[in-house]
Amino acid sequence: MAGERVTNCKLTIICDAFGKSDALQKDWGFSALVECDGRRLLFDCGNDADKFAANFESLKIDLTELDVVVVSHRHGDHTAGLAQILQARPDIPVYAPADEPFSTTTPPKFYRPGVASLPKHMRYFDGAEPDAVGHGTAWKRKLTLINETKEILPGIHLIATVSETKGSLEMPELSLVVNTNEGAIVVTGCAHCGVENVVEAAAAVESRTRLLVGGFHLVTTGEAEIERVAASLREHWKVTAVAPGHCTSEQGFLTLQRIFGDRYIYAGVGEAISLP
Ligand SMILES: [Zn+2]
Ligand SMILES: [Zn+2]
Repeated sequence: MAGERVTNCKLTIICDAFGKSDALQKDWGFSALVECDGRRLLFDCGNDADKFAANFESLKIDLTELDVVVVSHRHGDHTAGLAQILQARPDIPVYAPADEPFSTTTPPKFYRPGVASLPKHMRYFDGAEPDAVGHGTAWKRKLTLINETKEILPGIHLIATVSETKGSLEMPELSLVVNTNEGAIVVTGCAHCGVENVVEAAAAVESRTRLLVGGFHLVTTGEAEIERVAASLREHWKVTAVAPGHCTSEQGFLTLQRIFGDRYIYAGVGEAISLP
């Protein structure tokens, strides 16, 4: 798929559980600021609203200067700071996966025309069928829900995956693909569907992945499988460089560092990675 390309991209890690700076809060979760050709996209919103806001302040990033927010998936360690952002920027575009916690509409199959023989006090809404049944959400406003690959800004795409893994079965997730002249920068929140599947889905936008950033979800994965995934990313998927964080796991950091060598980019909280 040809298309627009971004000429300059800078990634700053706002939330993670490891890092070099004592001035920043370490927390189990993920958030990264992605700045591309003057646009500022926030990918994920951290694990704790206060720690998240404190890191923004320490890094001197103004919440009100964001252009768009992407929430990768429903887990609290990626969503907790969203309320903070919506308070500062009530109208900011927010993209989220088409998943129940982000929805304001109850699925039609949940409410069907009633059984007339039931007494009124056993009928939903006393038997008076409503035109629409709203669905509660913590976010107090409608988000833009995405269930397929979509270009949201020139050269910046969201890819939608669904997990087939036990523990996160059927959970939809969004990853980010920033298309540059040297290939794609792929940012994952947790990669619950499997990080190789994220790279495969990203290849539909751009076949070359120059940098894979974020959570590779290897926290509960055995050593042998971590080894296989790391080798597969390098040899089969031809990922040029990795900047793993969050749920990649310490064993994952160790193995990926050995396999990628000087193409392993350290991405602790507060780190900034600039790519032309
Ligand atoms: Zn996570
Ligand atoms: Zn998760």
